[in-house]
Amino acid sequence: MSGWFASARRRREDAATTELLAFVTGSAAADGLGSVDDRDPTPAYAALRRDHSHLRQLLDDLPEAVMVLSSDGTMNEVNELTLAMTGRAADDLLGQPFLDLVDADDDRRRLFGIWRQILARERVANATFQLRHADGTCRTVEADVRTPIVDAERVVVTLRDIGVRLAAARSLEQAQARFQIAFESAPTGMAMASATELTLVDVNSALCRMLGRDRHELIGRSVLDITHPDDRVLDPEAMADVFARAVQPATPDGPSSYSMDKRYLRPDGQVVWAHTSVSVMSDGNGGELAIAHIQDITDQRRAAEHLQWAASHDELTGLPNRTHFLEQLRRRLDGAEVGSIAVLFIDLDNFKVVNDSLGHAAGDELLRAMSERLRSVVRDRDMLGRFGGDEFIVMLDGLQLDVSPADIAERLREAIGQPLMIDGSELFVTGSIGITFADRPGVTADELLRDSDAAMYRAKARGRDCIEAFAPGAHETSVLALRTSGELRHGLERGEIVPYYQPIVDLRTGQLTGFEVLARWRHPDRGLLGPDQFLPMAEETGLIGELGGAVLRASLAQLGRWQTTVPSLANVSISVNVSVRQLVDARFNHVVAEALAECGVRADSLWLEITETALMSDVKAATVALRNLRSLGLHLSVDDFGTGYSSLTYLKRFPVEAIKVDRQFVKGLGIDPEDTTIVEAVVNLGKSLGLMVVAEGVETPLQLSRLRETGCDRAQGYLFGRPRPAALIEAERAGAL
Ligand code: C2E
Ligand code: CA
Ligand code: CA
Repeated sequence: MSGWFASARRRREDAATTELLAFVTGSAAADGLGSVDDRDPTPAYAALRRDHSHLRQLLDDLPEAVMVLSSDGTMNEVNELTLAMTGRAADDLLGQPFLDLVDADDDRRRLFGIWRQILARERVANATFQLRHADGTCRTVEADVRTPIVDAERVVVTLRDIGVRLAAARSLEQAQARFQIAFESAPTGMAMASATELTLVDVNSALCRMLGRDRHELIGRSVLDITHPDDRVLDPEAMADVFARAVQPATPDGPSSYSMDKRYLRPDGQVVWAHTSVSVMSDGNGGELAIAHIQDITDQRRAAEHLQWAASHDELTGLPNRTHFLEQLRRRLDGAEVGSIAVLFIDLDNFKVVNDSLGHAAGDELLRAMSERLRSVVRDRDMLGRFGGDEFIVMLDGLQLDVSPADIAERLREAIGQPLMIDGSELFVTGSIGITFADRPGVTADELLRDSDAAMYRAKARGRDCIEAFAPGAHETSVLALRTSGELRHGLERGEIVPYYQPIVDLRTGQLTGFEVLARWRHPDRGLLGPDQFLPMAEETGLIGELGGAVLRASLAQLGRWQTTVPSLANVSISVNVSVRQLVDARFNHVVAEALAECGVRADSLWLEITETALMSDVKAATVALRNLRSLGLHLSVDDFGTGYSSLTYLKRFPVEAIKVDRQFVKGLGIDPEDTTIVEAVVNLGKSLGLMVVAEGVETPLQLSRLRETGCDRAQGYLFGRPRPAALIEAERAGAL
């Protein structure tokens, strides 16, 4: 049984099938192309054979599966692709009902309807159905019967496997949906914009949040509208460049991309820093579409900016730090005219005292206040930096045009010296300033720093609160190289700080009464250093207490040995210098008492010398400290008398027993009338207050005789002996020298 619906044997209940069967009954199976009789030997037959094989070839070459159905629905002709599509041999198909290949009942019913339309010469649409393959699987196939070639007996049907196309379309749809979800719900901002006009086509909610705007506000807007003005590339050429880079694909077909950090503006004026990565790709319509990932990096940026600031600035005062200052100085020096730049090195003189006595908070406040004062003096083009501790530095630029650095230094010095209220107490702080000029071509920042520092140190040595300009060669002799407190600490630990002894004689008897103890640093590289070269640093760094204690103990121990082993020194005393910081230190009394006890020296063979200026810096504290010391049984004298401004009232109040006339007055004694008058007045004053008077710096016999005449009690000076180490003193006593 052949025919369109042979398979209807299996589905006799199918009414449509029955109808079709009735319809096709009796219609002869058309002669297919394959039915030419090969045995016909005539020329006409040969031509027909040729035509036939051409047609056959044509049919097989067609890129689609083609079959010719006879009006009863059986397959009369099939091409190669049909065989491939069905997985069957031609013999399995030819003469078989086409609908046998259709899998589902529904499809069969639908196709049958179409078949009837075709036969009725009606226009029909393409039909899609599931085609059963020999391997049991199904293919989604589209039968093209829109313009079927229909003659009395044949219908040509083209079949296309559209499974792949459908799958592609489906996965495209899914991809699009996935992209939409990813785009919308991405935690980073995303935008799509036309690559040429930069008009926003779509934005996600993360971006809306980031930019503080609604979606509808953004779509249709130009990217430039929301970009920070400084980051809009307005120059058309630069713009073109950005896009040239953008659309220059890395691979010919792949999207091209670029990224940059840029700023966007929110409507509230806030700036958003964002890392923006843009990929430019074809929009499928011949245009280009830019897809941007916009990641908010404002916080990182701020943190980085703060780090950068912190690395180059001093947190406390907000001033440029050492590194930054030197960097800037180097930059300005580069190409600067000779003499147009000066560097001022400022060091506060008594900062340590404030810091130690009032505490760090007060110290910080003082530094802040000072930095404000200094800032108010320097001009905008100049630069002020903090070098750490109580050191500040100023660079003056463009000097020919303007005021002199000395004037500015003077204004800075005055500004520092103004009284300052901190924690309810009025403080008087002074500053020492060193100046140097970029006065030679090629001078480096480090050289300027070194020279201004050396000059500042000279200002300190000159008595502080003053200004010194750098003198060439100064750094070689200066204490500059010794400035690190580490080195001094080391020296102290290794016992390099030693006492030297200078004799003090009784002017009436001419007898040695004692020695003044003067500290020396036996520096391993620099030789013997005088106190001027290391005491200022010891004061500044707070090492003075330790240093003073070491000198005190060493000299008391020495005195103890002398008193017991050198008969000619059995009754001598020693005079030890005490700095103000030692004096006001609550532990000092204890240190002295302990040293005396340790060395077995009677307290009354010890004199402590405190300078007049030191006593006057804090009269109340000094009075208390002096009384405590005095109660140990030792003696006290006012050193460098005449250089300070002590009033008689104070002098009477201090429990002191001697005053030492400063050597600067002794120097002119007998030659300079003014000096002579001063020395006489001091001696008389001392006498009238019942104080012993000691003259220092006596170098000449004339000075000696004058001192004797005025009734001065004791004297010391090169005339009687220079400060010497203990061993030399002993040798001298033994008569060896
Ligand atoms: P000072 O207390 O006024 O010490 C006297 C200074 O005059 C010493 O200087 C001494 O060497 C010097 N001198 C002595 N006789 C003569 C002389 O005839 N002619 C001249 N031109 N100078 C003479 P030196 O040793 O350089 O000490 C300087 C200052 O350092 C001392 O001045 C003292 O204030 C301080 N000092 C020294 N040792 C110590 C110490 O251990 N502790 C403290 N706190 N200060 C010390
Ligand atoms: Ca002294
Ligand atoms: Ca003195």
